Amino acid sequence: MSPKSVIVIGAGIGGIVAATHLARRGMNVTVLEKNSHAGGRCDRFSSDGHHFDAGPTLLVMPLLYEAEFAALGSSLNEMLTLQRVDPTYHLVFDDGSQLALTSDMKSMQKQLDAFEPGGFQGFLRYMDEGQRHYHLGMQKLVNRDFRRASDFFTLRNLPLAFQLKPFTKHYGNMSAYFDDPRLKSAFTFQDVYMGLSPFEAPATFSMMPYTELAHGVWYPKGGMYSIVEALMELAQRAGVTFEFEASVERIAVNGSKARGVVLTDGRHLTGNAVLANADLPYVYKDLLPNDSEAKRLEQKRFSCSVISFFWGVDKPYEKLPPHTLFLADDYRDNFKSIIRDLDLPANPSLYVHAPARLDPSMAPKGQDTVIGIVPVGHLSGHGEQDWAKIRDEARQHVFRRLRTVGITDLEEHIKFEVNYTPLSWRKRYNLMKGSTHGLCHNLMQLAYFRPRNKHSRYQNLYFVGASTHPGTGLPSAMISGRLAAERMRDEMMYD
Ligand SMILES: Cc1cc2nc3c(=O)[nH]c(=O)nc-3n(C[C@H](O)[C@H](O)[C@H](O)COP(=O)(O)OP(=O)(O)OC[C@H]3O[C@@H](n4cnc5c(N)ncnc54)[C@H](O)[C@@H]3O)c2cc1C
Repeated sequence: MSPKSVIVIGAGIGGIVAATHLARRGMNVTVLEKNSHAGGRCDRFSSDGHHFDAGPTLLVMPLLYEAEFAALGSSLNEMLTLQRVDPTYHLVFDDGSQLALTSDMKSMQKQLDAFEPGGFQGFLRYMDEGQRHYHLGMQKLVNRDFRRASDFFTLRNLPLAFQLKPFTKHYGNMSAYFDDPRLKSAFTFQDVYMGLSPFEAPATFSMMPYTELAHGVWYPKGGMYSIVEALMELAQRAGVTFEFEASVERIAVNGSKARGVVLTDGRHLTGNAVLANADLPYVYKDLLPNDSEAKRLEQKRFSCSVISFFWGVDKPYEKLPPHTLFLADDYRDNFKSIIRDLDLPANPSLYVHAPARLDPSMAPKGQDTVIGIVPVGHLSGHGEQDWAKIRDEARQHVFRRLRTVGITDLEEHIKFEVNYTPLSWRKRYNLMKGSTHGLCHNLMQLAYFRPRNKHSRYQNLYFVGASTHPGTGLPSAMISGRLAAERMRDEMMYD
């Protein structure tokens, strides 16, 4: 029998991983990527000796990376040189108080008890819950496929409704552990990675702060793009073919089958199956014939977006830690204005990353590389958001926040700036609404309720990536790649 051929649309993390699994199983796999290089949102660019990770900056959930590299027949530690980032984050609150989140329990005890008497005990109890949520969540929800309702609605899964606290709001749940609002925000801000406000996210997500402290936040030598390079090496070893600057215009369908793809340069390519890694709602809307599912997906809840500033600066800011988070007192209003009003909050929480603290080669000697990330609403669809104005306000907020930690002259030392707004995210990666994390992870968009990795009508059209199960983040993209490839292998065997 001649080998089956698969066309993959997009060389994001999910696309590369799925392609590699399929090629390792003997299929002929061609990945078509509209950009000039692989990685999708896990992107990188360099200018004047400064290197910028344009998307992810945190390697979290290392155990999942280990498992996924092993599933690809490799080893995380052989492919990448990792260093643990500890303290993980330096948190700075509006009143000037600071908290360095660290695995050093003595330091945590001292810091947390100074915030509130008994703070450390509350933290230990919270970590205990996070540990339970992490292990159960990974085993029962993240690391497995839900091909049909009966995979999810089982008697065995029933206890999850209590064990994982899916119906309890994350922020509300924090009152069981802390009184001080600063501590409540210190251990819930990670929900924004899921595109959610802690006021609506399920308490299940205590797994995030748990894994960050228990398993660590890590940094690969050379930056996060080294992960893409490592995965590309495995893909090439497996025999995957990549075509860059190859933009797919539409998926050619006929009856209940996808026949192949049509590229913007006019070429038609055919295959036994098509696997779309481009953002799922975009695929339905722009690459497939219009149907009610496209409308339904567009109306789902999307995660927020961010405005990112990439600065090459002519002096080093040695005192700026690698990951600094400025958390606003008006925490609830922050989320309201991002998620409900699709706007920039009046006093936004924001994040500053200084990669040269972790790997000096990220900036020229005697200079620095600084990234400022400000969460904002996604594109509204009505075009009334003035992104130039919002971007300029966001920039001033970063400078203002940095002044509170003694960095008063960054603006004067900027050699060049590159910035991305939600419009850039949409244009670069075809992310619907410029939403950086795709469909958000509320209860009705999780596990079985998240879009499946296969089209319901076109029987050989599959999906992979952040808007599919299990969701956003690099480890999830790798898992979704493996799950989609397993399904394709199972189903294509009998084709
Ligand atoms: C600002 C930001 C910060 C983040 N921080 C972190 C972090 O710290 N840690 C973490 O784990 N995760 C983080 N994430 C999330 C993580 O980057 C994503 O979840 C993950 O990279 C998504 O991978 P994916 O498989 O969905 O592919 P995508 O990255 O969406 O890639 C899809 C690819 O398809 C291509 N494509 C689209 N349309 C077409 C077409 N018509 N033809 C051909 N190709 C097409 C795109 O160009 C793209 O390369 C962050 C994301 C962003 C944006």
